[in-house]
Amino acid sequence: MSIADSLDSLKSQIPGHVDLIAVSKTKSVEEIQTAVDAGQNIFGENQAQEMKAKSEELTDQIHWHFIGHLQRNKVKYIAPFVKLIHSVDSLKLLSEIQKQALKNSRVIDYLVQVNISGESSKSGMTYEQCEAFITDGDFTNFTSCRIRGLMGIASLTDNRDQIRQEFRELKSFFEECKSMLNDSAHAFDTLSMGMSSDYTIAIEEGSTAVRIGSAIFGERNYPNIT
Ligand SMILES: *Cc1c(COP(=O)(O)O)cnc(C)c1O
Repeated sequence: MSIADSLDSLKSQIPGHVDLIAVSKTKSVEEIQTAVDAGQNIFGENQAQEMKAKSEELTDQIHWHFIGHLQRNKVKYIAPFVKLIHSVDSLKLLSEIQKQALKNSRVIDYLVQVNISGESSKSGMTYEQCEAFITDGDFTNFTSCRIRGLMGIASLTDNRDQIRQEFRELKSFFEECKSMLNDSAHAFDTLSMGMSSDYTIAIEEGSTAVRIGSAIFGERNYPNIT
């Protein structure tokens, strides 16, 4: 299927309240342009320099989302333009994002990544760490960074029930966090879960943003999953 046909097919399956993030890591500027021409304007990348280089060659109407593990010394490459960082996993990283947001005189939106599979190879905070992060409230000191929600990656498994359970648990935790933050000025409204292999389950379990790469652009030439 062509990129445009894949996008059409996905859009017909994804409800209007769910954002489709086209994950374009390793894909060329030409392939991204094809998706832009087909009406797609949110793209996800997991390498800071790659995202910066692509952003410079493409229309500034694109909303760039950073979806991978972010090293602190790379924040500077994306801070001027990134629309949403899905993968904040420490206060140290957040403090660097704050610094770069100030430098660029802007507010940067982010999600906290939760390690919902419990796999040690995956990044993200544990539920316990994330709960402490929210309840301690230290993040509110970073006034140029705005917490918008949570992100999770399900286990790489054929067991659909397990995937569903992991998404369900994250959704329930998301609702808890939302009620904790309710009285402050937070727009805690984004639950990023679901990829090519599991987005239908994620949507059924309450996702508001799916990150889809190979189902749009075809298989990547090398494995690049964080
Ligand atoms: C690569 C990647 C995706 C997209 O994966 P596909 O299986 O190609 O849809 C989604 N989220 C993250 C964090 C990724 O690194």
